[in-house]
Amino acid sequence: MVTFLSGGTGTPKLLAGAGDVFPRSETTVVANTGDDVELGGLLVCPDVDTVLFERAGLLDRDTWWGIAGDTDATNEALLDLADRLGLDDGPRYLADDRQTAGRRLARWRRFSALPEFMTIGDRDRAVHLARTSLLDEGQSLTGATGRLADAHGVELSLLPMSDDPVATIVHTDEGPMHFQAFWVHHGGAPTVADVEFRGSETAAPTDAVLTALSDPVVVGPSNPVTSIGPMVAMDGVASALEDTTVVAVSPFVEDRVFSGPADDLLAATGYEPSTAGVAEAYPWADAFVLDDEDGTDLDRPVVRTDTRMDDERDAKRVAKAVAEALEVAG
Ligand code: GDP
Repeated sequence: MVTFLSGGTGTPKLLAGAGDVFPRSETTVVANTGDDVELGGLLVCPDVDTVLFERAGLLDRDTWWGIAGDTDATNEALLDLADRLGLDDGPRYLADDRQTAGRRLARWRRFSALPEFMTIGDRDRAVHLARTSLLDEGQSLTGATGRLADAHGVELSLLPMSDDPVATIVHTDEGPMHFQAFWVHHGGAPTVADVEFRGSETAAPTDAVLTALSDPVVVGPSNPVTSIGPMVAMDGVASALEDTTVVAVSPFVEDRVFSGPADDLLAATGYEPSTAGVAEAYPWADAFVLDDEDGTDLDRPVVRTDTRMDDERDAKRVAKAVAEALEVAG
């Protein structure tokens, strides 16, 4: 058995070609939920859904979110309505008393759908409606995720990191904002001062996650702050990672990031924005997979390969390097 920790891009890319190296039926994926939002009452879980859609063969691989070929009719109608209502000036994060009044799982991540600032496709929306309905019927997020994964023929076991709310709030020069407002609406432009995982003091990893963390763990290329940070912020996760064998794939080639805001966020949270900084942020990692062109000298074993993943063949090559690193580390 092996457990992958996943954000919304790097690990799903790796999973696409990992099946020959790590059998799907023996693979668990723990997905970050710190990026989740409740948008107009629908619980949207971007990282869980990227893994779900990738494994179901539905993912839009140009964006690494949403369903390929999806239409946006409802989103466009909502944007038009927001415009007519004069409510089109950006994400409308609900007032503090509304953040804590509704569904507990949605605490500190609740937005109006006017305007619907994230482009939620029509088929994509059906998944959010189904998930929210399963929650309304009394299922946990873990239960609802498992049902959706089964319904899509996903062979691996897909787990949200927690059934409790953790909201990634980015503190910027333009004030505090939820990660999705920072990234989707502001395009990551505001200067980041700090990142907070609101709710993580009381949130717990599920028993299923803790069991999965007793297997060898692979941290696919991930944003260490916003994808792995919310997991490790919960009590019990870091110590579980200390107790098992962990291999991490760097999301950098030395100080060059492949995509996303990992560099700015690492710098804002006190780490060097580089492979060296990732290693410092992952004290529990036993070995690393680095790019051939990454000469970083680490204090832990390293396996090198070409870590750029554009297709399944690339992902299989990186998965083989991960398996080698697990052997070296174990
Ligand atoms: P998010 O949830 O979409 O924000 O992103 P993730 O947590 O999945 O992290 C994406 C990280 O993966 C970024 O820091 C990228 O630099 C890295 N990344 C993206 N594509 C690749 C790739 O092909 N190879 C490697 N090694 N890293 C990648």
